[in-house]
Amino acid sequence: QETVYAIASGKGGVGKTTTTVNLGTALAQAGERVAIVDADLGMANLAGFVSLSPGSATLHDVLAGDATIEEATYRLAENIVGVPSGNELADYAETQPDGLGDVVDALRDRADYVLLDVGAGVSHETVLPLGLADAVVLVATPEPAAIQDVRRTMELVERVDGSIAGLLVTRTHPTGDVDPETIGEKLGLSVLGSIPEDRAVRASVYAGTPLVVHAPESDAATAYREFAARLTGVE
Ligand code: ADP
Ligand code: MG
Repeated sequence: QETVYAIASGKGGVGKTTTTVNLGTALAQAGERVAIVDADLGMANLAGFVSLSPGSATLHDVLAGDATIEEATYRLAENIVGVPSGNELADYAETQPDGLGDVVDALRDRADYVLLDVGAGVSHETVLPLGLADAVVLVATPEPAAIQDVRRTMELVERVDGSIAGLLVTRTHPTGDVDPETIGEKLGLSVLGSIPEDRAVRASVYAGTPLVVHAPESDAATAYREFAARLTGVE
């Protein structure tokens, strides 16, 4: 039984791509077949997080009708494939996001888990994946303003009849932050995990290696494995 998760937030820079890559890699390490998809069509950058240089085809080419999904699917490591998006504005201009539904259906046939790294904002290509997913993981940092941000995203999920898996609070600090459980209570959401601010994350991004591979013993990697287990039941 395959599951499609959209990883979403109103704001950029909160850790959606980091979460997609590390949730995916943690599930692959646990023996699940995983596909991670750069559905952030306007600001694609997932490929860099996993040192993937797409030979030719990207999701943009698939959505423009110029490539098949097979051609845009690349093996990243054991049990995990990635579908990158092009990072040229010209690619974006040609894109028909409505084809994303067929892409997701095709990937359902080849993976146990499909993870959609969704762009920030409220545009059509951001909202569309929220409805294609079986469940949406809402990602937020623990600032007070984040509450409003998550609320808006929850409204978008409702608008497309999507369902919400819960909240992941990222980049938490030991002191001075709003407590993740308090944020969850305010929003009526279950908290799926909380990922500490950790220098190892940035280092892993520079290395182009998922954190759970680059620094598996780091606090944030441990938190990502706990989150993966809590979300899916896979350990
Ligand atoms: P988004 O996809 O939501 O825009 P990213 O996953 O690209 O966010 O994260 C933005 C930047 O924040 C990354 O380059 C990374 O260096 C940093 N970052 C994300 N999560 C953490 C964390 N837990 N600790 C430290 N830095 C983080
Ligand atoms: Mg991103």
